[in-house]
Amino acid sequence: MLSHEQTPGVTVSQQCDAYVWFSQRAWVEINLGALSHNVQQLKKIVSDTTSILAVVKADAYGHGAVTVAKTALQNGATWLGVATVPEGIQLREAGIQAPILILGATHTPEQIHAIAHWRLQPTIYSPKQALVFSQELEAVNYNSSLPVHVMIDTGMSRLGTNWQSAGEFVQFVQRLPHLNMSGIYSHLATADSPDTTVMNLQHQRFEKAINEIKALGIKLPCVHFANSAGTLVDSSLHYDMVRPGLAIYGLSPAPHLKAGVNLKGVMQVRARVTQVKTIGKGTGVSYGYTYIAPEDMRIAVVGIGYADGVPRNLSNKMQVLIRGQRVSQIGSITMDQLMLDVSAIDDIQEGEIVTLLGQDGDEEITADDWATQLGTISWEILCSFKHRLPRVAVS
Ligand SMILES: *Cc1c(COP(=O)(O)O)cnc(C)c1O
Repeated sequence: MLSHEQTPGVTVSQQCDAYVWFSQRAWVEINLGALSHNVQQLKKIVSDTTSILAVVKADAYGHGAVTVAKTALQNGATWLGVATVPEGIQLREAGIQAPILILGATHTPEQIHAIAHWRLQPTIYSPKQALVFSQELEAVNYNSSLPVHVMIDTGMSRLGTNWQSAGEFVQFVQRLPHLNMSGIYSHLATADSPDTTVMNLQHQRFEKAINEIKALGIKLPCVHFANSAGTLVDSSLHYDMVRPGLAIYGLSPAPHLKAGVNLKGVMQVRARVTQVKTIGKGTGVSYGYTYIAPEDMRIAVVGIGYADGVPRNLSNKMQVLIRGQRVSQIGSITMDQLMLDVSAIDDIQEGEIVTLLGQDGDEEITADDWATQLGTISWEILCSFKHRLPRVAVS
């Protein structure tokens, strides 16, 4: 149970000044203990020869890229994955030395210069793009070869060269000056589905591509294939490296994958009660009066809203936790504030902590709960919290 005076079991890290902590209307807690635990769990399910690339794109799924990257590296990850060049630069500027793979597309001269300068490893996915990289590096007299990862499309129909021409493509890349194939990979489209048909087909295609490359006498670089779901579902997908994102943040890609590993939720979203009041029967609450008090009731106003990332579509549908108990949100969620029915809890005080996502006492509300209510996936929920909410590291 959390109160405004103390937060048992949650120690504010040294990174967080106590004043900042207690002055905030709302914040996102990042549990670094849970994050460390999750990376260690994944490390346990892969063999000693399989590396872990922690996917920290999109500001580490909203958790804060630098803190997450450092913690993941301290707990067994040896690689980092980002989507864009600026995301990679942010990690390098924070002093992180580990190899960083850019999972997204890059092709402009500015991107290529930055990749070389910051020692990032790009994904190479088409002959045209590979040629642009080589020519641009030649133009700036780049005096070594840039490590690149070749991406093969085995059925995701996203970035990547078609699996049927993988051998040809790899030969083409190898002949280009300044490029050194340090990795080869593909991405699974349906690994979180209980139906493994497509996953097996992608696996076969990936195997064919790899064998074709081997048959051409080319020494295989670091081979990687599995996202979180692939990592959890089948060790034959692990190869030299796995690329978990979601699992690091403590969520399972699908209910049937939960059993194999013990994951702990990393993100908790909390806010404070800013006002408590009694309203009479028949009183409307919030914009549009989508909620009318069915009887006299006590309500709490809370300092968090849709501009912080609480989906407005959860208005009148979501529950939150106060003092370890579930209470209902009422009325439209507004940009910066929302209201709760706190009639069932005695003497709620201004300043008390409300848990929107995460644990309070024995109760827990997860990103999966929200995703189910909203018809989306937990990945999107995690990524939706805005930077107005400070990220606070807890252990
Ligand atoms: C985002 C991403 C991942 C991580 O996926 P999760 O489902 O979050 O584990 C892995 N590989 C690639 C190429 C990605 O884009």
